[in-house]
Amino acid sequence: MSRHMIRRLGSALLILCLLLSGCQSAPKRYDRQFVAMDTYMDFTAYGKDAQNALSAAQEEVIRLETLLDVTGEKSEVYSVNHRQTNTCTLSEDLSELAALALKIAEETQGAFDPTVYPIVSRWGFTTGAYCVPSKDELSALLPLADFRAAALDGRALSLREGMQLDFGGIAKGWAGDRVLDLWREAGLTSGILRLGGNIQTLGAKPDGSAWKVGIQDPKTEQALAAVSVIDKAVISSGSYQRYFTVNGQIYHHIIDPSTGYPARTGLESVTVVGESGARCDALSTALFVMGLENAVQFWRTRRDFEVVFIRDDGSIAITEGLQDSFSLLDGFTDRQVEVLS
Ligand code: AMP
Ligand code: MG
Repeated sequence: MSRHMIRRLGSALLILCLLLSGCQSAPKRYDRQFVAMDTYMDFTAYGKDAQNALSAAQEEVIRLETLLDVTGEKSEVYSVNHRQTNTCTLSEDLSELAALALKIAEETQGAFDPTVYPIVSRWGFTTGAYCVPSKDELSALLPLADFRAAALDGRALSLREGMQLDFGGIAKGWAGDRVLDLWREAGLTSGILRLGGNIQTLGAKPDGSAWKVGIQDPKTEQALAAVSVIDKAVISSGSYQRYFTVNGQIYHHIIDPSTGYPARTGLESVTVVGESGARCDALSTALFVMGLENAVQFWRTRRDFEVVFIRDDGSIAITEGLQDSFSLLDGFTDRQVEVLS
């Protein structure tokens, strides 16, 4: 072989190696953990712009937290809740969230109600100073928890005297949507957000396969099942997430706005799978309050989301759209799973 041919063969081999390595190298993974919204956040993004995207995501979540923190004296929600007059002009961001929340309150007939704050705070769930209010105290607070008495016209919000807002049941899902919007605008195609128990995914995994998202066993807090999803939110509400115990009785943080008491409907957790994080978040809270039967009826009239219900006795019910993507994990394969249609 001539020297010339050897050189050409060498160059061809070099180009082939470069091409192969180009095809094989998976996009690089970057992670970011931080605490915000009273929650441990863990975000993962893939690709060359991922590090900037993670910084932008963290900034955005912290910015939204400063709007929504019910106990933070500098937040916009705090100033609405401690207003001088009963009509306030909201920021663009807060009016968008309030509109979404009020729409879901209407749709769920108040099972989700962002005006439930006076009751939630009386129970001490926002400060950790827990106490069981008397029946009379709750009866006095009940008329304040009524989204029908809130009117939003563009950015102008009117509330009745004493009413207060709490977006704790929707805020994390909404923040997740905002982050994923930013990531899409930046051209990212693959990533996953873990905002406490909320999971939101962007696209598929870099290898094109679905994300396998775990669902917790409320009793052991181990992952008992998984759903495989692409570009979806998987958001759980459960009585195990925040609660206190008095005289052996458990009081958890998901309040039935019609009674003022923690919702007791035989459910221990509700996981909603769907497109929008905000909607899934608000619905997981609402369906928990409704209880299985009413929640299934509600699902039948919508069908733009799917649900995993875990009852107090550990049995599981899933809506039929999850049949192919739901699986029980090792150690839990003896659980009964009912498919709802
Ligand atoms: P989640 O964990 O998404 O179910 O939200 C629970 C949080 O939402 C609570 O800690 C309260 O701040 C608030 N909350 C409780 N009950 C309700 C309700 N029925 N509607 C709207 N928000 C609620
Ligand atoms: Mg929620």
